[in-house]
Amino acid sequence: MNAPVKPSKLIKGATGDWEVVIGLEIHAQVSSNAKLFSGAATAFGGDQNTHVSLVDAAMPGMLPVINEECVRQAIRSGLGLNAKIHLRSVFDRKNYFYPDLPQGYQISQYKSPIVGEGEVVVDLPDGDSITVGIERLHLEQDAGKLLHDQHPTSTFVDLNRSGVALMEIVSKPDLRSSEQAKAYVSKLRTIMRYLGTCDGDMEKGSLRADVNVSVRRPGEPYGTRCEIKNVNSIRFIGQAIEYEAQRQIGILEDGGKIDQETRLFDANKGETRSMRSKEEAHDYRYFPDPDLLPLEFTQAYVDELKSGLPELPDAKKARYLKEFSLSDQDADVLVAEPERAAYFEKMVANGAEPKAAANWFINEYLGQISKVEESDSVPAVVEPTISVSVGHGSTSRSGQITINWTAPEANSAIVRMVTSNLISGKSAKALLGLVIEIGPVADPDDVKTIVEHLNLKQVTDLSAIEKVVDDIVAANPDKVAQVVAKPAMLGWFVGQVMKSSGGKANPQAVNDLLKRKLGL
Ligand code: ADP
Ligand code: MG
Repeated sequence: MNAPVKPSKLIKGATGDWEVVIGLEIHAQVSSNAKLFSGAATAFGGDQNTHVSLVDAAMPGMLPVINEECVRQAIRSGLGLNAKIHLRSVFDRKNYFYPDLPQGYQISQYKSPIVGEGEVVVDLPDGDSITVGIERLHLEQDAGKLLHDQHPTSTFVDLNRSGVALMEIVSKPDLRSSEQAKAYVSKLRTIMRYLGTCDGDMEKGSLRADVNVSVRRPGEPYGTRCEIKNVNSIRFIGQAIEYEAQRQIGILEDGGKIDQETRLFDANKGETRSMRSKEEAHDYRYFPDPDLLPLEFTQAYVDELKSGLPELPDAKKARYLKEFSLSDQDADVLVAEPERAAYFEKMVANGAEPKAAANWFINEYLGQISKVEESDSVPAVVEPTISVSVGHGSTSRSGQITINWTAPEANSAIVRMVTSNLISGKSAKALLGLVIEIGPVADPDDVKTIVEHLNLKQVTDLSAIEKVVDDIVAANPDKVAQVVAKPAMLGWFVGQVMKSSGGKANPQAVNDLLKRKLGL
């Protein structure tokens, strides 16, 4: 499916080039209020064992009941991945013992998943794009959590997560570099955040990846893979792949062979470590869960969900390029987060010229915001009508940064003032700083009031500028004599006029006027 790997993407070993092959199994927590088979809450951060029903605690005789909302979200995710939706799927028991799994088995989908093959287009930082095959998406339960650090001699179990719905999204082994793998995970996260099917917050564990890595000589069949379990940040996924590829190349170049095994990524050391070999691999004894009927729905139901999907990032990007003539890069930045796209569209709806709005939003406004944004945490965007200073008013809870955005109407007003030459670009930047600093500026009229108060209005009135220009020309006969021979001197005059107008003169008007006065 992929074009041959560019030579630059190959890894140079001591004995020649190697190609890394990566396939990802992403576990994405379904956005739903209740668990997959019980009515217990899925809310993050509750006291231990407070969101546990008798089903989640696996009390004898309890029966699982499928949560339709989770099914709906899985189908919508599948549609967002351009994947085949299976109208009939089966829940199986995956049997194993672990203290965080009171049932003694996980309910998952094995042979008949709810979603089959699909594909995702991933734009890469270098401008290329790749198509990554999706093998399947299935629904399964999450397990509980062991707490090892609460007591000197005991380990505690928290079952709040027990039974929470996960979507496991399995890619084909189509990825060829850590960059591609990171971009793929970002893209999946973006798509699910548009759909509202997973919040994508890796710090809360809503998205984690099992990373399968192998290496081979270009053109050779796939090598033996190792699977790195449960990597919980995009940066770590990249680091784990880099480390693992080098480790495998080292072994192969020394004449060794790769044992298929499950490994762990140690984020402190930046390395992967063996967890268990294939020989120790579980035999899960999958069988259809006798407590659950096969999951069946109609094509009409799928069609209805399909028609209700929001505009997804690829379509949105294409529209921005066509409708607003934005650059590829700007469109990428805007569509990467649904909140950004919505913000930009609101600025445009409020009359800002699209290219100017995109430029302002990305380079000025987002620049300010991203000082506090962390790459792995998703900014929880509070109603964008309230604005609190980013530097001072942002709060940090459970490692997540909450940013209260300045209203798009206010930023739109600033852009309109620049476009219509009411204020200079320089004043606009100062103005933005103030708007962010002051607090709740949601009303464009408030922005205008600030402009009036601070006397930021640009002087475009030629007669006012003319007086200043005349004075400067009269006071500097030597410079006037020089400028005729050396037109670059014009800059000096422009600077003088800008200075004496307190930076408020319109530079273009000043330029034109000076040229006329100096006979250039
Ligand atoms: P399992 O169910 O045992 O984990 P799968 O065949 O379902 O095995 O593969 C799991 C993941 O491993 C998939 O994402 C797939 O793309 C990836 N994968 C399979 N073969 C390779 C390989 N040789 N190198 C890297 N990744 C691979
Ligand atoms: Mg696997």
